[in-house]
Amino acid sequence: MKATSVKAYGTAAAEADLKQLDIERRAITVSDVAIDILFCGVCHSDLHFARNDWGMTQYPVVPGHEIVGRVTQIGDGVSKYKKGDLVAVGCLVDSCRTCSNCKADLEQYCPSWVGTYGGYDKHLDTNTHGGYSETIVVDEAFVLRVPKNLDQAGIAPVLCAGITTWSPLRHWKVGKGSKIAVVGLGGLGHMGIKLAHALGAHVTLFSRSTNKIEDAKALGADEVIISTDEGQMEKAMGSFDLILDTVPYAHDLNPYVGTLNTNGTLCVVGYLGPLDPMLVTVPMIMGRKSVAGSLIGGIAETQELLDFCGKHNITSDIEVIKIQDINNAYERMLKSDVKYRFVIDIASLK
Ligand code: NAP
Ligand code: ZN
Ligand code: ZN
Repeated sequence: MKATSVKAYGTAAAEADLKQLDIERRAITVSDVAIDILFCGVCHSDLHFARNDWGMTQYPVVPGHEIVGRVTQIGDGVSKYKKGDLVAVGCLVDSCRTCSNCKADLEQYCPSWVGTYGGYDKHLDTNTHGGYSETIVVDEAFVLRVPKNLDQAGIAPVLCAGITTWSPLRHWKVGKGSKIAVVGLGGLGHMGIKLAHALGAHVTLFSRSTNKIEDAKALGADEVIISTDEGQMEKAMGSFDLILDTVPYAHDLNPYVGTLNTNGTLCVVGYLGPLDPMLVTVPMIMGRKSVAGSLIGGIAETQELLDFCGKHNITSDIEVIKIQDINNAYERMLKSDVKYRFVIDIASLK
C-alpha cells in the first residue's frame, strides 16, 4: 500500500517560523492504527526541538507529542482498538520491545525508543513526524485509550506534561503524608501540582512569579514559595521528600537541594544539559540527599495515568489555539504567558 500525503505544520530550519507543509504517513501495517488527530498539546520540548536548542534536530521537523484523536482504520492484527475509538499518542511510537527496559514497561529508557517526532520511521525510512498534523499512523502497542468522561482537548497535555510529572511521583512513592514541591508553574508544573494533590501529598510551588500564587492554590498547591525571596527559601530548608524541577533552562539547583529533608530527592525533568552553576555536594552528603532525573513515562504507566485522570476528573488547564497561531504561542510560552498549556485544535488545519 502507498503512503498518504497529509497536511502538517513544521519547520525546515531552526530560525524559521513553523508553516504548513506536506508529510507522508505510512500505509497501515498489520499492527497499526490510523488516527484522525483532533487535538495536540504544545510542549516546551516542541519549541526546543523546532529551534534546535538541543543540537540534534533533523529538519524538517513536525512537532507535537500530546495527541488525541479518533481511530479511522486498523490493521488486520489489531485487537485493542476499533474504528471510532477515542485514543491518544504520547512521546513514544516504538521501541525494541526486547531489552530489559522494554520488558519492565520502561520503554522510555530503551536505547532504541522511537520518538513521536524526530525519531526514525523504519517503514518509511524517514524521520517520524508529530501531532501538528491531520493524521498519524502508530503501532497499537503505543496507542492509549482515553477515558470518555474527560474533555478531549484538556486531556491532551496529560500525554507529556502529565506523565513526565506522574512517573517520578510514582517512582518515589508519593502519597498521603508526602511533602513535595514543584519548581516552575508552566505546563509540567501545573500538572505536577494537580497530580501530587490528587495523590494526597502536601504540595508546595516554587515560582519566580508572585502573580501565580492564587492560581497555584486553585490548582491544589498548599503553599507557594517565591524562589527569588531569600527569607522564604531559608524558611523552607529541610522540608521536602521530593522536588520536581520543571524549569527549562540552566539554573542554580543548590538552593533547592537545601530545602530537601534527609533522604530527599530533587528530580530534574525540565532542563537537559550541564549545570551552571555546578552542584555543591555538601548539602547532599550532609543529608543523604539525591539529585536525579526522569524522562516521560512508559506506555503502561501512561495508561495508568489516563485512567487515574478519568477517575479523578483531572484535565489540564488549557488555551485552545488554531494551528496558524503556533508561532505566536511559542513566543508567549517563552514569556510564561499561558495558563497553563496551549492545545491546537487540529480542525484548523483541515
Ligand atoms: P513551560 O510551560 O514553558 O513552563 C516552564 C516554567 O518554568 C515556567 O512557567 C516558569 O515558571 C519556569 N521558568 C521558565 N524559565 C525560567 C527561568 N529562566 N528560570 C527559572 N524558571 C523559569 O514549559 P513545560 O512545557 O512545562 O516544559 C518544561 C521543561 O520540561 C522544558 O524544558 C521541556 O523540554 C522539558 N520536558 C522534559 C520532559 C522529560 O521527560 N523530562 C518531558 C516534557 C518536557 P514560573 O514563572 O512559575 O517560575
Ligand atoms: Zn513534551
Ligand atoms: Zn527496548
